Amino acid sequence: MAVESPARSAEDLRDMTRRWLAEHLPAGWMEAIDAGDVATVGSLRSGMDYAEWCVRFGEAGYATPTWPAEYGAGLSLSPGDARFVNEVLNHYKVPRPYNIIGIGMGGPTVMAWGTEEMKHRLLRPLACNQEIWCQLFSEPGAGSDVAGLSTRAVRDGDEWVVNGQKVWTTVAQLSKWGMLLCRTNPDVPKHGGLSYFVVDMEQPGVEVRPLVQITGDSEFNEVFFNDARVRHDWMLGREGDGWKVAITTLMNERVSLSGAGSIGGDAVGGSPLDRLLERHRGVTDPLARQRLAGAYIESRLIRLNNQRAGDKRKTGAEAGPEGSITKLQQAEFNQRLQKLALDLEGPSGVAWDGVNLSKTVRAGRAPKVDEDATIAFGFLRAQANTIEGGTSDIMRNILGERVLGLPKEPDNSRELPWSEVPRSG
Ligand SMILES: Cc1cc2nc3c(=O)[nH]c(=O)nc-3n(C[C@H](O)[C@H](O)[C@H](O)COP(=O)(O)OP(=O)(O)OC[C@H]3O[C@@H](n4cnc5c(N)ncnc54)[C@H](O)[C@@H]3O)c2cc1C
Repeated sequence: MAVESPARSAEDLRDMTRRWLAEHLPAGWMEAIDAGDVATVGSLRSGMDYAEWCVRFGEAGYATPTWPAEYGAGLSLSPGDARFVNEVLNHYKVPRPYNIIGIGMGGPTVMAWGTEEMKHRLLRPLACNQEIWCQLFSEPGAGSDVAGLSTRAVRDGDEWVVNGQKVWTTVAQLSKWGMLLCRTNPDVPKHGGLSYFVVDMEQPGVEVRPLVQITGDSEFNEVFFNDARVRHDWMLGREGDGWKVAITTLMNERVSLSGAGSIGGDAVGGSPLDRLLERHRGVTDPLARQRLAGAYIESRLIRLNNQRAGDKRKTGAEAGPEGSITKLQQAEFNQRLQKLALDLEGPSGVAWDGVNLSKTVRAGRAPKVDEDATIAFGFLRAQANTIEGGTSDIMRNILGERVLGLPKEPDNSRELPWSEVPRSG
């Protein structure tokens, strides 16, 4: 996917990034970060025009450094080289686009399967946060077994007509485009009857209803399709190839959720390890010190595993099942980390007012959890980590079957035509 860049040293790439930031971030931002002056960064951040920043940042290629520059947003860097750019962006806590699903999954899927027309039309506004993307896979009757889904698309000339329901669709309420997996042939076994479309979410046949989560936020939604229409030539892959295309999306999702993606952690919130270590530097309780040291070691192990998977991708290989190792590790680690943050903070860690990140984004501001709310929010939000993007049980199945080579899980419905598989409802 990434075009190999002309040889540039790590220091050249770090310098290039620092120079761009010095020219474009509000005056005083970088100095405040280097001086540890959190208050000044906070006030500069709240004065920023987030939408305008995302366009500048995206068009300069920094939102998606591994994407080919020819599509209007990218630096054509290899994943290895992009690491040096991201190091600087992370250090300076640069606001990133909210379009996490688009950047982490939509863009890579369009690059792998889309036509040139789609790449030129879709990638730049995606990277610039002007068009948000969502993933329309899960349904009330199909989550872990997503290949069993029921949403139907029926061909009508140059278009397909879509009917059915999706659920848990993150940021659907903000989205222009959806990655839609639906059934185009019910008379063949479930995996072979699926097709994959890029669907316009802003059309009359698409109804989005937000769901309220434990954090108080409405990150995800129910989505109803009622005779919605999608162009035939916006099908990714061929008719019946939907499962193969979905695998590209899911592999990239696991990379994003494993902490290896290029998206800044501050888009999600929670208590990052370095902040926790800083906050409790002087702690004397031996058990607390042991838990902090354990968290540090675990985070380094995840980083090394991510590096190993990244090195494989550097050779040009697509994201593979090894993403499931760190998706599993990262999800369970983050839950332990957020629990540790809560335990160390004591009662003040749970005194908070709730957050509504999607409302903040709608108002044109960068999503950011207030410092006071971080600990409670991080703990509550982390409960989803072992479910979203495939549960930990499913990650273990994938690792058993596709990495360790163990026998496949028995599935009586795998060979039957989908229409003959017994189901409720
Ligand atoms: C915060 C959040 C955001 C999400 N965002 C999106 C999104 O944007 N788009 C989208 O399409 N989906 C999204 N999802 C849905 C997510 O992918 C599903 O919730 C997940 O795949 C599990 O499916 P399910 O909820 O239907 O649970 P089920 O599949 O019903 O599973 C129930 C339980 O059974 C276990 N189980 C099921 N099958 C097996 C098996 N074969 N072996 C062992 N155990 C098994 C599971 O591990 C789980 O514990 C999101 C979920 C969350 C929590």
